[in-house]
Amino acid sequence: MEIISRRKRMMSLARRLRREENRTIGFVPTMGALHEGHLSLIHEARAMCDVVVVSVFVNPAQFGAMEDFKAYPRDLTRDSALLAEYNVDYVFAPTVEEMYPAGFSTYVTVEGLTDKLEGAARPGHFRGVTTVVAILLNIIKPDFIFFGQKDAQQAIVIKQLVRDLAFASEVVIAPIVREESGLAMSSRNIYLTNEEHRAATVLHRALLKAHKAYDDGERNGERLIEIARETIEQEPLARIDYVSLNDAETLKPLDKIDDRSALLSIAAFIGKTRLIDNVVLGKTKKQDAVGAKA
Ligand code: AMP
Repeated sequence: MEIISRRKRMMSLARRLRREENRTIGFVPTMGALHEGHLSLIHEARAMCDVVVVSVFVNPAQFGAMEDFKAYPRDLTRDSALLAEYNVDYVFAPTVEEMYPAGFSTYVTVEGLTDKLEGAARPGHFRGVTTVVAILLNIIKPDFIFFGQKDAQQAIVIKQLVRDLAFASEVVIAPIVREESGLAMSSRNIYLTNEEHRAATVLHRALLKAHKAYDDGERNGERLIEIARETIEQEPLARIDYVSLNDAETLKPLDKIDDRSALLSIAAFIGKTRLIDNVVLGKTKKQDAVGAKA
């Protein structure tokens, strides 16, 4: 496994793999601090592609001024060891200067989809995400790029980006990987104390409860949101940022669920740590299963 820090090297290598060796490239972008959620994407990429490239880059452009860019966990030695174990071929781990050299001034924005949910709560977040993904797609030009349903809105925004700007990569979305407790795996879970970790499982319980109500016939948006809210509010360490029901493809807010699938999403602070989770109600695809375990 080779660890690459230069754009130029990554570009020429990817070009060679594609053109001379005619190999398909699967690409998994990450911010490191790898866990089984990331590893499931790598597993999928390994199964679908000849060559697997994983990027490890904590992207400053997607963090707000008050967010945890500085504190975000970084351990390339540990991550590289895990990636080698998972038979990854190349790790692209550039510095901030390599990705955003002096004079950098081009940003990519997906409009509409990014003004709600995470976009409303974290202004500028998706502009940072779509910009870095556009750069990475241009450097690596993978056949397939893999994202997790854990960041459901991100997955939708990236699909739109790839469609609109005609990137020649196919977007693959993999299901949410959860701990045995139901808590969705996240690099930010390491911020949680034991007590907060226990409290954080309320997010999954809230989704399960709403899912159960949906299965029992509840289709009213407000009611489903209320069921999730009530559950979270019973946990004193949790503070809701939003609970929202949206069309699972267009993200249009929904007051009732009909024949289209709906995304029920939650953002909440557990202590100082902000966590997100979601479930798709309605037509269930593999990636939407609420119960996927590591
Ligand atoms: P991050 O390093 O947090 O930027 O995440 C990198 C990729 O891993 C994103 O596509 C995430 O959606 C995905 N991911 C993070 N956590 C999980 C999880 N628990 N299950 C599945 N995918 C995940």
